Amino acid sequence: MPRKFFVGGNFKMNGSQASIKTIVDGLNDAKLDGSNEVVIAPPALYLISVAKAVNAPVEVAAQNAYIKQSGAFTGEISPEQIKDAGVPWVILGHSERRSLFHDSDSAVAEKVKLAIETGLKVIACIGETLEEREKGITSQVNQRQLEAIAAAIPESAWKDIVIAYEPVWAIGTGKVATVEQAQEVHADLRKWLAGRVSPAVAEATRIIYGGSVTAKNSPELAKAEDIDGFLVGGASLKPEFVDIARTKA
Ligand code: PGA
Repeated sequence: MPRKFFVGGNFKMNGSQASIKTIVDGLNDAKLDGSNEVVIAPPALYLISVAKAVNAPVEVAAQNAYIKQSGAFTGEISPEQIKDAGVPWVILGHSERRSLFHDSDSAVAEKVKLAIETGLKVIACIGETLEEREKGITSQVNQRQLEAIAAAIPESAWKDIVIAYEPVWAIGTGKVATVEQAQEVHADLRKWLAGRVSPAVAEATRIIYGGSVTAKNSPELAKAEDIDGFLVGGASLKPEFVDIARTKA
């Protein structure tokens, strides 16, 4: 079965009730035909209203979740609460969480495990920094981050996981990876998945690219064999996100 193209929009800590309504209205008016899977991730405060407002095929994701389901963890939200809010997806391991909020490989893996056990679908983010790329350890870094996740979950969990490869140097910088750079890492990750998990999982799992994706560069990136979609930050707040959501693979 071909992998369904996946377009995620990560609003990060941006937007207001009014501006987010404009984005949702734009997506609803676009009457997307469902050939791509489209998921938007507003800040947690807006999840319930956005989940109620979006029309199919658009779905909603939280941007993070905690490693416990309830308790004295001020400021956190749990996978159970995300599910209870009618939100089917969660982004985990985003590089901003890893670098600014100290989410370690093992914390990300624990979060993925609990989210999957709760019945959520997960966009699991990995990616190397510029320093790591220049040292020539891109492959090791991405495989290390993915190994932590692979070690925490059963093979059956992969059907509910999308891997987002987001080179840190390309996020929010306007410095998009070239098609060749992205394809090389995606192919490497798929090969790794085949050996570490199974050939079937490697074949079926979407590996999406994130980092300065725009409506202008998305058509070219989408042509690469192992790029199965995008995680879009800045451009997901703009009208051009509708065009990215319509990208033909
Ligand atoms: P960007 O962010 O598109 O603004 O580079 C991508 C992301 O962080 O998911």
